Amino acid sequence: MTTSTESRLLPEVAEFVAQDKRLLIGGAWVPAQSGQTFETEDPATGRPITRVAQGDAQDVDRAVQAARIAFEEGPWARMKPNERERLLWRVGDILSERAEIFGQLEALDNGKAATIATAVDTAWAADVWRYNAGLATKIKGDSVNVSMPFSPDGRFHAYTLRQPLGVCGLIVPWNFPLLMASWKLAPALAAGNTVILKPAEQTPLTALLLGEVFEEAGFPPGVVNIVTGYGDAGAALSAHDGVDKVAFTGSTEVGKKIVHAAAGNLKKVSLELGGKSPNIVYADADLDAAVAGSVAAWMFNHGQCCVAGTRLFVQREIFDDFTQAVADAAAQAKIGPGLDPATELGPLVSQEQFDRVDGYIQQGLADGARALTGGKRWGTEGYFVEPTVFVDVRPDFSIVEEEIFGPVVAALPFDGEDDVARAANDSIYGLAAGIWTRDISKAHRTAAAVQAGSVWVNQYNGFDTALPFGGFKQSGWGRELGDCAIDLYTQTKAVNVAL
Ligand code: NAP
Ligand code: MG
Repeated sequence: MTTSTESRLLPEVAEFVAQDKRLLIGGAWVPAQSGQTFETEDPATGRPITRVAQGDAQDVDRAVQAARIAFEEGPWARMKPNERERLLWRVGDILSERAEIFGQLEALDNGKAATIATAVDTAWAADVWRYNAGLATKIKGDSVNVSMPFSPDGRFHAYTLRQPLGVCGLIVPWNFPLLMASWKLAPALAAGNTVILKPAEQTPLTALLLGEVFEEAGFPPGVVNIVTGYGDAGAALSAHDGVDKVAFTGSTEVGKKIVHAAAGNLKKVSLELGGKSPNIVYADADLDAAVAGSVAAWMFNHGQCCVAGTRLFVQREIFDDFTQAVADAAAQAKIGPGLDPATELGPLVSQEQFDRVDGYIQQGLADGARALTGGKRWGTEGYFVEPTVFVDVRPDFSIVEEEIFGPVVAALPFDGEDDVARAANDSIYGLAAGIWTRDISKAHRTAAAVQAGSVWVNQYNGFDTALPFGGFKQSGWGRELGDCAIDLYTQTKAVNVAL
């Protein structure tokens, strides 16, 4: 950290960062068995923040055992749903009370603006905890009138139970560390499972601070275990025979590895993977709103969003003016470190991501794309990239086909409704889509035609805790958020009683 970073830190954040960062296993904070640690760094400067325990397969094994004991022998499974409700609600309240602390710690570790990490990431995470607290008391089965063709004279009482899966491994990425952890932890715990959380190596800190919240709220030991470390810890978790379910958010490439690793014991798997989402602007849209919304679609969180609207389809008659307006608006963004309150666009999370995004930009330029703005590094330290708007692209360019995960958009013209739906669907992904038009019928027709798990009309990033979220095609398996998140962490049992 630099002195200017240190001087901005809240005392609680400075104190937390100064302590040893260990693993949470069976209610105790322990070092990795290997004794190894790794560094987490501030992406605004590339300088280390602190060292964190580097858990590996043996620590994952210990954590799985602790979660198993907590599930089978601890008070958790016998607890009344409204007792779990109160504990989850308490987590939400503590997150709300300490939103600035969590927000600043997230900004330090991930690079995003602290104002956003507080008002969006942490505030929303608190909401997710409270929403799922409410679901703990609403998990229910059905009673079923059975016909029983082989027992014409019998009378039966048949019903279904929804029961927890058991031990769940939760593997999360670095783009929304606290929020992605909360999306998985809250429904898994509401349903009565015990869990092992594996944060991304780039951003372990808010998960560890959240670990302290579970202790404070009064969760029994072993219900939530946290193993920080590298991808090998995630691989060990997804392959472990003692794990009943793995929930993952991250790249499609690693998602496929998880599917293979899970085959050993056929554990349940849910996946929230990559995207290359289309954002479609018809000429009849409210263009001022569409410009602002289309910039946010790919620039929010520095483009490090699985739903980023990075294929901007603009109707041909407005293409030149619209893309220029998007480029002009993007170029206005105030770039800087996340801890500077004026910052709108922070650094990418790591050198690796910087190199990856820069590689795509260079490839786009080499392929013949034209940057209306951006196209290069910003500043001399840290991992900042200028927001970049590409035109003169073809559908087969890598900047059009592949997930870049940086503030880079490729704009393509289209003529009409049918050809834009075809072009939008020409992707292995299907996570989200934006549509901008004043024609309500066209909006609904296009919403039905695009292959995407979420469609946002006359807005972008229109998430809500109550709305299901997940991917078509290679963007994933299952739906998080909403009350259907409980389905990811429960299984149905049919009970049939001869009366
Ligand atoms: P990633 O490798 O998919 O990482 C996501 C999580 O999976 C991290 O916790 C990671 O641990 C863990 N992991 C890595 N290898 C694993 C394995 N074999 N088995 C189980 N877990 C494993 O993502 P990344 O490398 O950080 O980013 C690469 C690209 O993925 C990005 O450029 C972006 O395109 C995409 N991505 C998508 C999302 C999304 O929300 N859909 C989020 C992040 C990244 P470590 O961090 O310790 O490796
Ligand atoms: Mg970091």
